[in-house]
Amino acid sequence: MPDPQRFDLLILGGGMSYVGAIRAAQLGLSVGLVERDKLGGTCLNRGCIPSKALLETADLLHRVTEQGAEFGLAGHEGIQLDYPALAKRRDAVVEKHVNGVEFLMKKNKVTVLRGNGVLSGPTSVRVGGGESGELEVTAANLMLATGSAPRALPGLEPDGRLVITSDEALARDDVPPRVAIVGAGAIGVEWASMYRDFGAEVSLIEFADRVVPLEDPEVGKELARVFRRRGIAIHVGSTIDPETLKKGESDVSFQVATRDGAKRTEMTVDVVLVAVGRRPLTDGIGLEAIAGVEVDRGYVTVDEFMRTGAPNLYAIGDIVPGFALAHVASHEAVVAVEHMAGHDPEPIRMELMPRVTFCRPQIASVGLTEEEARAAGHEVKTGSFPFRALGKATIVGEIDGFAKFVADAGSGILLGTHIIGPHAGDLIAEPSFAQMVDGTAAEVAMNVHAHPTLPEVLPEAALAVDGAAFHV
Ligand SMILES: Cc1cc2nc3c(=O)[nH]c(=O)nc-3n(C[C@H](O)[C@H](O)[C@H](O)COP(=O)(O)OP(=O)(O)OC[C@H]3O[C@@H](n4cnc5c(N)ncnc54)[C@H](O)[C@@H]3O)c2cc1C
Repeated sequence: MPDPQRFDLLILGGGMSYVGAIRAAQLGLSVGLVERDKLGGTCLNRGCIPSKALLETADLLHRVTEQGAEFGLAGHEGIQLDYPALAKRRDAVVEKHVNGVEFLMKKNKVTVLRGNGVLSGPTSVRVGGGESGELEVTAANLMLATGSAPRALPGLEPDGRLVITSDEALARDDVPPRVAIVGAGAIGVEWASMYRDFGAEVSLIEFADRVVPLEDPEVGKELARVFRRRGIAIHVGSTIDPETLKKGESDVSFQVATRDGAKRTEMTVDVVLVAVGRRPLTDGIGLEAIAGVEVDRGYVTVDEFMRTGAPNLYAIGDIVPGFALAHVASHEAVVAVEHMAGHDPEPIRMELMPRVTFCRPQIASVGLTEEEARAAGHEVKTGSFPFRALGKATIVGEIDGFAKFVADAGSGILLGTHIIGPHAGDLIAEPSFAQMVDGTAAEVAMNVHAHPTLPEVLPEAALAVDGAAFHV
């Protein structure tokens, strides 16, 4: 049994860092992991897994109730959402995977220390307030992975009832009939899509000039077009004026104002869901006492191997700059562990991290947008192909959207891929790999894709980069 107070690696925060814990065990390190709540962190308990479980039912409901008749299904008119049953499935899916992480920790002989951890030195942590009692734990290496929490908007602080964040939305066992969602980033548009499929009246309010402002503008335009067709009211360049907020017994009224205040729209809803991003949880973990660690607006500064400025102290996941995504966090954890174990991992390249938003139509991207590529000094050429021209998309009945490649004009090397449409999240795997190996549009086109499949959108969009797509 490893000494419960001395490890080769100690991890503070048991979210996606658990993958790094497994890698460390594989490499023969003794590992301690400090967690004050449930293993799996935000992703498993309050993020990816429960939200996608709900979105799966939203998709199923849409397919049966809205497309059933066209697909030759009779009797679907009586089908209704049973939200308590769905909530039960959501919780079962979460429980299964949290238990799975517990099992993996045992299997890999990772010592889980239950309690709140505070740094007492660059490689030591004081654990307390939990099942493991009061402990001072030291390690040769320490990895910080304390994650993030929803960001609040001044004047729109969550009250858990009328103004909520994704944390409370995920815990609810009903669908509010009228919802205003503030923030049209990944989390906001997923909830907008889901609530709409569940029959809610949805208003999406975004301060930037377009929805999904971090995605390629053409993707945002397509999403807005489809969302409007689906009956989602979109207010871009706007925000809720907190001065006008009036909370009633069971509803809340306010004005939605454009940024310049020129246009104001009165609104009354049952719930305001604030989805304006996440803030890193680095307050109160004792970082200020550690020499050499830089913290910028809460984010811990790290290099491409996830090293902080203090020796043997690493940080990963939502507390470091970059995409706040589960697979990014787990990949960072693996790179950090391999580095501290004296291996030679590939450094982190944030531009190779795929991003997926599970609204309908789905969105997925990797690398640079056309705008970003030009701003970075590339001369670019682009090619797009619409799903509507693809046999499989017609068969599936999801014809909105397109795939778009951004390539270097001279070499044809892919700089960015942007997909909006059915199964975009699955389709992004191939472009991610192509971009990792500096593949070109011509090479994607050369790769023969089975017919009829959705991935056929990729060679067509790649051919379109040189104006040679077949089915347009
Ligand atoms: C609604 C929603 C949907 C999402 N959907 C997706 C998605 O589809 N795909 C995707 O890739 N990402 C998604 N994300 C983002 C993803 O959940 C995060 O990027 C990921 O969980 C970050 O992992 P992490 O390990 O950095 O932090 P976390 O998962 O937040 O884990 C941090 C852990 O540290 C623990 N902790 C913190 N401080 C201490 C302390 N002092 N002592 C002990 N323990 C501590 C916390 O309890 C927590 O368990 C979603 C997020 C949300 C909110």
